[in-house]
Amino acid sequence: MGFDIGKKAIKIDDRTAYRIVNTWRELYLKWKVEYAPEEEKEEVVAQEIKEKKDVRIPKIITVKAFSAKIDTPINELMRILMKNGILASLNDNIDFESAAIISDDLGWRVLPEEDSVELDTGSAETIEETRKSSANLEPRPPVIVVMGHVDHGKTRILDAIRKTNVMEGEAGGITQHIGAYQVEKNGREITFIDTPGHEAFTAMRSRGAKVADIAIIVVAADDGIQPQTREVVDIVTAAKLPFVVAINKMDKPEADAERVKRELAELNLTPEDWGGKTICVPVAAKTGEGIDGLLDTILLVADMEKENIVADAGGKTVASVIESNISKNEGVVATILVQNGTLRINDYLKIGNVLYGRARRMENWKGEDLKEAGPSVPVRILGLKLAPEVGDVLVSTDSIKGLEKDVKKTVGQRPAALAYESFPGDEKGEREILNIILKTDVLGSAEAVMGSLGQFKHPKLGIKVIHYGLGNIIEADIDRAGASRAVVYGFNVRLDSQVEELARDKEVEVHTFQIIYDLLDSIKKKLEAMLSQEMIRIDLGKLKVLANFKQDKNEQIIGGKILEGRVINNVRFDVLRQNVKIDNGEIIQLQAGKQDVSEAVEPSDCGLKIKVGQVIREGDILMVYKEEGKEQEVKL
Ligand code: GDP
Repeated sequence: MGFDIGKKAIKIDDRTAYRIVNTWRELYLKWKVEYAPEEEKEEVVAQEIKEKKDVRIPKIITVKAFSAKIDTPINELMRILMKNGILASLNDNIDFESAAIISDDLGWRVLPEEDSVELDTGSAETIEETRKSSANLEPRPPVIVVMGHVDHGKTRILDAIRKTNVMEGEAGGITQHIGAYQVEKNGREITFIDTPGHEAFTAMRSRGAKVADIAIIVVAADDGIQPQTREVVDIVTAAKLPFVVAINKMDKPEADAERVKRELAELNLTPEDWGGKTICVPVAAKTGEGIDGLLDTILLVADMEKENIVADAGGKTVASVIESNISKNEGVVATILVQNGTLRINDYLKIGNVLYGRARRMENWKGEDLKEAGPSVPVRILGLKLAPEVGDVLVSTDSIKGLEKDVKKTVGQRPAALAYESFPGDEKGEREILNIILKTDVLGSAEAVMGSLGQFKHPKLGIKVIHYGLGNIIEADIDRAGASRAVVYGFNVRLDSQVEELARDKEVEVHTFQIIYDLLDSIKKKLEAMLSQEMIRIDLGKLKVLANFKQDKNEQIIGGKILEGRVINNVRFDVLRQNVKIDNGEIIQLQAGKQDVSEAVEPSDCGLKIKVGQVIREGDILMVYKEEGKEQEVKL
């Protein structure tokens, strides 16, 4: 049925089970219609149609949009609304409850749109309140984010920093497994969130997570302040986040740090050496020059902020989600940053009042197993039952009493990190699935793309977004795509030449776009290409077997009369005996009047050499057909 339950899955999670049950109901009804006796067909069809009238709507919907959804003319809908005491015009909103009542009358069952119900996701208050109420606040490593205009060197700076304190001999040996890492400087630890870009930062914050203590704003010395730099400055100041400006690419001959400082001053961020407060550090990520100094500066800022950079390792455990996905082999995988308390293996984790499961395994950024993780330690956890979202705040809990464990309810309430799956009625399980990895600049774009993909319905094809994330396409995306034969689509994100090379090596298809329509068009073309490999059957003719001359192994030589149409060489046929299909075979040689021919037509006699399992008898009918690739258009 197209469900991805892993190769050797013995168990599936409740969420998948729930989906399967629902899909199964639909398939079952289709099957019933197909096999129902003629006289009952009508009734079964009526039942199916009734059953199929499920419609998903958001919490609030305009009358106009709703009428389209339930296929009811607006006038009619407004009349019914009025009958129910709701006076609403075309563009007025009605709420879910009202919609539900009215839909009932019209024979529809409305369900909440997956992502329309907001849930108490926990929030920044949880973290701050937890910390505030803790008795034993102690210093913890500062958590740093890197932001700046595209191409100014965020990624390169993160790389350069990572390399600074990798032990001799370890260099190159460490592959980073998660979207955050830690380095040590002057005996102190610093945590870096490795999803550069303010979009990820904004997305996290919008969901309540406050992960960073200090920002590094990267400005290229050869390019100066650019639009995204200004955006970042706004975001950082709005978040009251202390920051350091890294003036990057100082190795370039055209580098002009003074210009950057002047532009900063124009933004009211007067540099320190100009008598202001903004700390600027010149660096060259390419050569590593100044990176050490940048780290020293960060520690200095951390010291100035030291009363805020604290946590209680013995207190309540609270952690924010930095990355989240569902992997084929490992199930739900989340990278989280512990912000207070100590997370231990097998702790129960909840978000709001929903139980997400337990951290059954825990790894640090080097992929080493951990038993516990304290404040500011990023870890990758395995074993959750539900996939959290980036920016969700997980809280550990001793008692799971009173928590929402009913997946039926929770499934409807939260979109899976597994983004989107589309499996409309795949009766025979023959649907070809296009696996997609989607990387976008902002959450909104991802949602827009997935919204469109969500409309996709096709009897032969399905789309599955196996992973989506914010930020540039990275090596992990290619690895993931390689493993699940997915195509990577990027929207407003970059693809570094290194990553591109890896994609070429692994034969992973990667496409990036600046226009959503182009991206969708590319997916559409891909789907069409998948379809054109689809074979369709073209009936050619009907032949009655008059004699079977010879049988050896699986080859037989027979003679017959063409009753209808034509017979051609090298095509397939069904064998009918008393009107029942008993086998299927292939014509490998065709003769008419002892001459090899490529075609014989009604009403001639012909001889055939065939490959078929059953022994063909006089009186059998061969239904001859050919298969052809069919070009088809797909709507998206
Ligand atoms: P991001 O978009 O901010 O993450 O930028 P990247 O880190 O991907 O860097 C963009 C480009 O600038 C890449 O081609 C880098 O190799 C280059 N780059 C980054 N830092 C430096 C630097 O310090 N010096 C020079 N010459 N090039 C750099």
